[in-house]
Amino acid sequence: LTRLYAPLTSLAGARVEVMTALVSFERVFEVLDLEPLVRERPDAREVPDGPLSVEFDDVRFAYPAADKVSLASLEEVASLDTRGGEEVLHGVSFRAEPGQTVALVGSSGAGKSTVAQLVPRLYDACSGAVRVGGVDVRDLGAASLRGAVGMVTQDGHLFHDTVRANLLLARPGADEDELWDVLRRARLEDLVRSLPDGLDTVVGERGYRLSGGERQRMTIARLLLARQRVVLLDEATAHLDNTSEAAVQEALAEALEGRTALVIAHRLSTVRDADLILVVEAGRVVERGTHEELLARGGRYAELHRSRGGAEPVTEAAV
Ligand code: ADP
Ligand code: MG
Repeated sequence: LTRLYAPLTSLAGARVEVMTALVSFERVFEVLDLEPLVRERPDAREVPDGPLSVEFDDVRFAYPAADKVSLASLEEVASLDTRGGEEVLHGVSFRAEPGQTVALVGSSGAGKSTVAQLVPRLYDACSGAVRVGGVDVRDLGAASLRGAVGMVTQDGHLFHDTVRANLLLARPGADEDELWDVLRRARLEDLVRSLPDGLDTVVGERGYRLSGGERQRMTIARLLLARQRVVLLDEATAHLDNTSEAAVQEALAEALEGRTALVIAHRLSTVRDADLILVVEAGRVVERGTHEELLARGGRYAELHRSRGGAEPVTEAAV
């Protein structure tokens, strides 16, 4: 394990890189043997039971100054209160009701991923508040928050390890039946059964290479296994595998059911079905509403939609 994960820790910006690759933060901390990156209050609370709302209340945020970021001082970075960087979120407010899917759309660099990173406290807001289940995330216990909020990229980031190990990252205790159940629901059962060693086939760059669409479905299988009630999903623009599009969408909808989700959405199908769409531009929410409301409004969303012919991804490719 040490050998497997060590290279990741040496990447610039590894903190976010590693964190976004996985569903379970708790597991990542365990694997990387890092201290939690933000400080927990001595009187920290547990995340409330039941479905959870996610609320941004006039959130302003600047990344810590780049010259202060070094992996030798992750802990130091997490606790920096001097913010040298330029403000990238300028007063973001919205509320995702429990069980809702909120889609964030907008140009590359607008601040969508930054919004997502504040929910599990990869960083803390400079002013304003981020609340989960009505509680300021800074008042929540780190382990409790990580058990409630999961982040996943649909890039299908796989470790050079077996299918089984890649799935178990999402829920370490899952048994064989549970693994096959999520593989079936993610439309991956036939594929995994056809692999030379089934669940024990090594996948990734140097192992069995999965297609983009297959990696997306692996992500969904992880999402189905994960128990977090709040899900942050950064959809991939690449690897849009048209043949599996309908199946992927269906499986994704199933995985998000009953959870509160913030989805950085590039595909029209995901955006159209969202309970609320936020159009983010230059660190501000410039429009909000449902697909129909925003089209009728004839503003930025309608423009984005039209410029993509109404059938293509709604946002520009991520950087
Ligand atoms: P989006 O996800 O909408 O493409 P981001 O949230 O990634 O946008 O980026 C918003 C702004 O924050 C951009 O100007 C980007 O350059 C900057 N930014 C993103 N990540 C970092 C970081 N780790 N350190 C400093 N600046 C960053
Ligand atoms: Mg992004």
